[in-house]
Amino acid sequence: MHYTGTLYRNPYEPQSPLLEITQGCTHNKCKFCTMYKDVPFRMSPLEWIEEDLQEIAMFDPGTERLQLIGADPFCMEFKKLDIICDMVHKYLPKVAVMTMAARVDNVKNKTVGQLKTLKEKGMVEVNLGVESGDDRTLDRIQKGYHARDIIEQCRKLDEAGIRYWMTFLNGVAGKELSHEHAVNSAKVFSECHPVVVGTGGLTLFPGTPLLDEANRGEFTPLSEKEMLIEQKTFLENLTCECTLITHHTVTANLTGMSFPENKELILKKMQHAIDNIDEERMAAVRNNKTHL
Ligand code: SF4
Repeated sequence: MHYTGTLYRNPYEPQSPLLEITQGCTHNKCKFCTMYKDVPFRMSPLEWIEEDLQEIAMFDPGTERLQLIGADPFCMEFKKLDIICDMVHKYLPKVAVMTMAARVDNVKNKTVGQLKTLKEKGMVEVNLGVESGDDRTLDRIQKGYHARDIIEQCRKLDEAGIRYWMTFLNGVAGKELSHEHAVNSAKVFSECHPVVVGTGGLTLFPGTPLLDEANRGEFTPLSEKEMLIEQKTFLENLTCECTLITHHTVTANLTGMSFPENKELILKKMQHAIDNIDEERMAAVRNNKTHL
């Protein structure tokens, strides 16, 4: 297989082969991320993709799912993705579901009609690392788009019938913008129709501009308890129907709960976690993390 640089498998995806179609990230500027810092962006040559599909066809010919990988492989223009879909079906005729990570702005270069075609060919779900719906926070972390873009591009996905996940990055606004980040993200997420809302907690990794800002006193990280309070505020204001995934809060694991039916129970669990937090233990868990 032609795997290069950083490989990321969505841990919540059922086991399925990974097909790399891009390397690195088209943006590579988010202030909290080092994942693809040393991997220049490029699209994988079609010959590589074809060779990898032939290899997958040898060891897993009946696979019904594929994860297309790269930081944001959905950036590819429609024509290229369409060619890749046809190639997938040539070598793996049973594939019905292709999933991949995407930036919100990856959707911009495709019409709703083109998105519908990709969906019919199996590109049925994308994982949007949205992080925030608050414009000041989005600007501060150099995410490269605004709340309006999130809503507009998600509407196109809705119209095309492509399912999407949305991620809220807890803590990324620091103390300075924490409340706005929680409330405005919930507002924007609630205007969309994500099948899954995931929340991950910010860890300041060496080499990130955000850590440098924290060291200079320009960004004030949240304590673990403040992270939970921010997450609770986000959930209090969230109204969309979705499944919830919270993969960072060891004291309040809410993963897999459906929303908003379980909202009251979820908020109770959050409050319990806030009241009983072991700050030192949670901080130790975070300090042992080596990547997002
Ligand atoms: S968070 Fe995603 S979009 Fe931002 S630099 Fe990292 S991989 Fe690229």
